[in-house]
Amino acid sequence: MSSARSTLAALRVQGFGTSIFTEMTLLARECGAINLAQGFPDFDGPLEVQAAALEALRSGDNQYAVSHGQPDLRAAVAEHALRFYGQQVDGNSEVTVTSGATEAIFAIVQALVDPGDEVIVFEPYYDSYVPSVVMAGGVARSVALQPPAWNFDPQELAQAFNPRTRLILINTPHNPTGKVFSQAELEYIAALCREWNVLAVVDEVYEHLTYDGIAHVRLAQLSGMRERTLTVSSAGKTFSYTGWKIGWVIASPALTAAVRSAHQFITFSTATPLQHAAAAGLRLSDGYFTTLAREYREKRDFLAGVLQRSGLSVLDCAGTYFLMADIAARGFDDDVEFCRFLTRNVGVAAVPPTAFFSDANKALGRRYARFSFCKKMATLQLAAERLEQPWKQ
Ligand code: PMP
Ligand code: GLN
Repeated sequence: MSSARSTLAALRVQGFGTSIFTEMTLLARECGAINLAQGFPDFDGPLEVQAAALEALRSGDNQYAVSHGQPDLRAAVAEHALRFYGQQVDGNSEVTVTSGATEAIFAIVQALVDPGDEVIVFEPYYDSYVPSVVMAGGVARSVALQPPAWNFDPQELAQAFNPRTRLILINTPHNPTGKVFSQAELEYIAALCREWNVLAVVDEVYEHLTYDGIAHVRLAQLSGMRERTLTVSSAGKTFSYTGWKIGWVIASPALTAAVRSAHQFITFSTATPLQHAAAAGLRLSDGYFTTLAREYREKRDFLAGVLQRSGLSVLDCAGTYFLMADIAARGFDDDVEFCRFLTRNVGVAAVPPTAFFSDANKALGRRYARFSFCKKMATLQLAAERLEQPWKQ
């Protein structure tokens, strides 16, 4: 055994701790609290999509899928890219199916990052990004999104690029802030990628959840970015079946070949019947996608009103199914303490955003709490009753 090893765990995973989503969901269960912490719908997605899964299960489509994805789903990903973004994608050579966006990002980083390579990430970041970089031996270099508008400092971003930079990892619409990167911001990032010959990975799992007329812009569509962008998405958020874990990567044939090399030895392949169901989902009519966004906008507005009436102030949310509330208005200054208090004493669980920041930047998240509104209206109403009563101290 290596002398540096202080526990049974290998050095590369020491310090990862337990995901905040697991921790808050367990605490919510223990306290009988309404779970507005972990982002998963408490309702089923479209029945046609479920029916497609059942049909595939019953028709005996239950053996290993093609490692890089069933042709049917890869074709549906390409059709969806054309329908929503006018993007030409070859389902044969430019799409890889993965076990959720989480595996997609892990496989991309394993495929493209050598030890010592730098990966630029925006803080706050989704909790799996930095561990994925660390497990590849890479170095994460973060650039802060500054509250309350969550804009980055263009100068700071430019200075993060250097000859060791291999990738930049972007998430838009952005969890946990609800920010949707503007075309101008993406153009600025694209120019830096071209200048430094850096590849961009864009996590677009909330691509269909934008509000108030704000459009999601696909970085891969900007000039000169097609060959250097890997677009990641998944079926979880768009079809409300987060447990199915069907994701995909769209990238040039050369980048796709690299991603497939890693993917084949991570999971080999992904649940076959659920791939057919995801394909059916991607082929739903335009009306499905607009209704999904409209219903989430109504839930966002409802929850924002509840949080405001309970004395919290709410930050703008242009996309995703998360709202950030400012807890300082109720006299709290520590997000972890606040979320534990709210779960135990009020019966509503939220996520402390400092979990999405590195130690150096935790101060940026401390005065907020993240609430998920991907719940039935009845669940949000129950949360409202609890939040709008005087809180037990
Ligand atoms: N990226 C972001 C920003 C997310 O919020 C999530 C949701 N959990 C994921 C990736 C993971 O997606 P999947 O469940 O498809 O792995
Ligand atoms: N993406 C979800 C969230 O942000 C949770 C995903 C998970 O539990 N790993 O809440």
